[in-house]
Amino acid sequence: MNLMEFNERFPDEHSAMMAVKQLREKQGVICRKCGHDDHYWQRTIVSFQCKQCGARQRLRSGTIMEQSKLPYRMWLMTIHLVTATKKSFSALELQRQLGHNRYEPVWYMLQKIRSVMGKRDAKYQLAGYIELDDAFFEIGDPHQKPNKAGRGSTGKAGVLVAVESEPTENQFRRKNRKEGRKCGKLAMYVVPNINAAQVASLALAKIDAAATVHTDGHKSYNKLDQHVDRHHVTISNDPKRTSKLFPWVHTAISNAKRVIMGIHHSVHSPFLQNYLNEFCWKFNRRAVSSF
Ligand SMILES: [Zn+2]
Repeated sequence: MNLMEFNERFPDEHSAMMAVKQLREKQGVICRKCGHDDHYWQRTIVSFQCKQCGARQRLRSGTIMEQSKLPYRMWLMTIHLVTATKKSFSALELQRQLGHNRYEPVWYMLQKIRSVMGKRDAKYQLAGYIELDDAFFEIGDPHQKPNKAGRGSTGKAGVLVAVESEPTENQFRRKNRKEGRKCGKLAMYVVPNINAAQVASLALAKIDAAATVHTDGHKSYNKLDQHVDRHHVTISNDPKRTSKLFPWVHTAISNAKRVIMGIHHSVHSPFLQNYLNEFCWKFNRRAVSSF
């Protein structure tokens, strides 16, 4: 759906509200008081009313829009813009495009959408051959420079990054390793520390037990073979060689940094995961040819 089609489908607030109503009815409206699943629609108060006990619930209840007062059409338009575009939007840019006079509700709406994107992607595991690495994303005040570079520095958040990297028929004929590997699904998780315990919980939650995982020689990955079928370790101090050995995980990390730093500038640590959710969600739904 493009913007023209969006406007035709949702020409006004009522049409957007009815679309949300239909979606909730399709998912099934359940009474919170008695568990009954048959409801009247109370148009004047924009609520469902339980046919058994009379309890009411607002249309927004239990949805992504629950805490928000923004119009339904603004929500649908934002969801459309965020999910249908390849790049990300800053809240400021979106506020301008929506013509809304306040920044905070727009910022909050975007964070909620990103959080749901993370929940959607949490439903599947990565499988096959997987590149796994860690990365550090700058966080907090953009004017405050981090103390030191690399692992463990302040002003940066540690992120574990795993991506499916399946060999293709061309793998041994091509000089460029990237062309020899087809990139599959991507997962990125902010972790309090890059250590064996965090790597283990990522592996248990996100990686199929039958997978082969390829990492560098960092000690955090030492016990990975307990959680996956095969753990393949390559130690290299040559950055050029390393990026050939881990073509997709490094591409994903540098693209994510470029998008997040380039568009959102200063990301505060509690929200970094949301920005990564949006990046991974788009990455996982890209057309293969466009990446
Ligand atoms: Zn009821």
